[in-house]
Amino acid sequence: MSSIQQNLQQITSQIESAQQKCGRSPSSVQLLAVSKTKPVEAILEAANAGQVAFGENYVQEGVNKIQYFAEHHPELKLEWHFIGPLQSNKTRLIAEHFDWMHTIDRAKIAQRLSEQRPADKPPLQVLIQVNTSGETSKSGISENELIPLAELISGLPNLTLRGLMSIPENVGDYSAQLTAFQRLAQLQAQLAKTYPHLDTLSMGMSGDMDAAIAAGSTIVRIGTAIFGQRDYRTE
Ligand SMILES: *Cc1c(COP(=O)(O)O)cnc(C)c1O
Repeated sequence: MSSIQQNLQQITSQIESAQQKCGRSPSSVQLLAVSKTKPVEAILEAANAGQVAFGENYVQEGVNKIQYFAEHHPELKLEWHFIGPLQSNKTRLIAEHFDWMHTIDRAKIAQRLSEQRPADKPPLQVLIQVNTSGETSKSGISENELIPLAELISGLPNLTLRGLMSIPENVGDYSAQLTAFQRLAQLQAQLAKTYPHLDTLSMGMSGDMDAAIAAGSTIVRIGTAIFGQRDYRTE
């Protein structure tokens, strides 16, 4: 068995035991394999082991991989999630190629994504990135901007708002992790009074997955533990 396959099995059983521990039903949490900087061969290995959803952070790199798999392995029907920060001049590539977008943090990005989504594709599935760590984190909107942005996105024809995403600051302490994730879940519950179809909380990475699952995560984003360390040197 390849090491990627073994890693996937290990993460999957870790997710299962975290679900069990807090009484959540099996397969209520989806594993997003974060493949940024990793070659298509590594993604193919994971896909052959049954992994379907992949997360990318860099627009052009992600598009190249999506096109590669559409051309060479269309039978795999992979699902592509954009999870990186996005400049508004790059929205077209996301709208044309990705299935999910996790990091919407302003109206302009949402409007452009909806305008640029091709008519022959289903609506882009989107999450709003919320900053639940206060001033210590720069990514995501503040809580008081959430309702107006959710309202705006709900009115856009080619986006489907599915929920919220956060990247809390990296703390080692379980109860601090839990508090941050519970805050996001609470915001989602408030929003769901107006938008009852919301069903997705993208929260939890390698170091804080257990707390995220206990707080209600439905997508955990795991990279290194599946694919190994990333090498950012250019080749
Ligand atoms: C890179 C990244 C991950 C995965 O991080 P690992 O430490 O490799 O597991 C998850 N979420 C986001 C938003 C990322 O950018």
